[in-house]
Amino acid sequence: MSITTRFAPSPTGYLHVGGARTALYSWLYAKSKGGDFVLRIEDTDIERSTQSAIDAILEGMAWLGLSHDKGPYYQTKRFDRYKELIQQLLDEGKAYKCFMSSAELDAIREKQMAAGEKPRYPGTWRDRTDHPADQPFAIRFKNPLAGSVTIKDHIRGDIVISNQELDDLIIQRSDGTPTYNFCVVVDDWDMGITHVVRGEDHINNTPRQINILQALGAPIPEYAHVSMILGDDGKKLSKRHGAVSVMQYRDDGYLPQALLNYLVRLGWSHGDQEIFSVDEMIELFDLDAIGQSASAFNTDKLIWLNQHYIKSLPSSDVAEHAKWHFDQLDIDINNGPSLASVIEIQADRVKTLKELAEISVYFYQEYDEFDAKAAKKHLRPVAKDALLLVKEKLSGLSTWDPESIQEAINSTAEELDVGMGKVGMPLRVAVTGSGNSPSLDVTLNLLNQQQVAQRIDKALIYIANRENS
Ligand code: GLU
Repeated sequence: MSITTRFAPSPTGYLHVGGARTALYSWLYAKSKGGDFVLRIEDTDIERSTQSAIDAILEGMAWLGLSHDKGPYYQTKRFDRYKELIQQLLDEGKAYKCFMSSAELDAIREKQMAAGEKPRYPGTWRDRTDHPADQPFAIRFKNPLAGSVTIKDHIRGDIVISNQELDDLIIQRSDGTPTYNFCVVVDDWDMGITHVVRGEDHINNTPRQINILQALGAPIPEYAHVSMILGDDGKKLSKRHGAVSVMQYRDDGYLPQALLNYLVRLGWSHGDQEIFSVDEMIELFDLDAIGQSASAFNTDKLIWLNQHYIKSLPSSDVAEHAKWHFDQLDIDINNGPSLASVIEIQADRVKTLKELAEISVYFYQEYDEFDAKAAKKHLRPVAKDALLLVKEKLSGLSTWDPESIQEAINSTAEELDVGMGKVGMPLRVAVTGSGNSPSLDVTLNLLNQQQVAQRIDKALIYIANRENS
């Protein structure tokens, strides 16, 4: 049997981490079985659905690399199909017109609640034929009265619900629009969905959806209802916990590889392995290994994974994602060394790509001002001779490579009979603007001889001004 899964977000907001994890599990299952992954936009709630939310979802999915094989489908474009099947159910006596007004329904509900009962539609119009003319009506599905529904759930095992618990669901509102649960059923059937992976908040819909699928003669998919994600504080993950939109993680400097790895482990495990490349996830993922309990978000672990991937992915892959952060700072990366070469020497020094961009500006443009503390400490009159001599030596090099640069620094210290730090630190502040950088040989090597000389001159002017003030 070929496997088809889907991700079916309602476009009422951005793609948040909970949705992203559900999408990831669904995508992984399809990929691991050589199946198809469908993207379906559930935009039937016209008032709450927006184009910007659709764009945000597509952007988030693309950033994560969760590509769809089919779709995106839009429910609002499929109304004819829903209507056709609603008519079919009516014709077959599996659905019926309900003329109860909302005021009447409210009154019934209130009574039921006052009597401590669960509010439910009592089936008033289920078998009536005395339909009033010219009165608005909804269409309800005739839920079976007896028996039970079994959800085959990969995470929770079999869940059995008695049909007596379920009332007759509205499948078409009195304004003629189909309802959410009905659209989902028709789509899952038409799109050949074999496995429904979704949040546990939908578990109450599932028995109703199964009954409708059965009435339509459609096959019943298998299910996996994924638990919630909680914040570090054990409460339901929300905006309060900081970044919950997937794109916020991009903005904060995370690699999609790190977020995917983080999300896959948030509820799924394979032994005690923590690091999974996407290929490994595909190879090892299984719905049955998803845990039942809610998982708590742990930002420290995500940062740890981000550092791991910044250090261990090929620098050209990291560069692809880092570029965005340089753009944000208005840094033209064509104006200097390749981003990959900068990443190679900076990867150990950062937790995020945002930081990486922030501490790498000096490779692409001259800093405006020296870091005040570093300049105060290292750009002092005593550093003048060292800077003059090292500048001369560096400018005179006929090969510009780390070894020759290191040799120029070493011989400067030797000739002046001072420690390496007395040359290195002023030189570092002169060239990078601050007291922190990777080792000087590789740092200077990514700049050119002329830039280095100019920056040393700038430091000498700073020292001269300081002497005179
Ligand atoms: N559209 C639903 C949501 O965004 C998901 C429905 C489903 O997966 O069946 O919560």
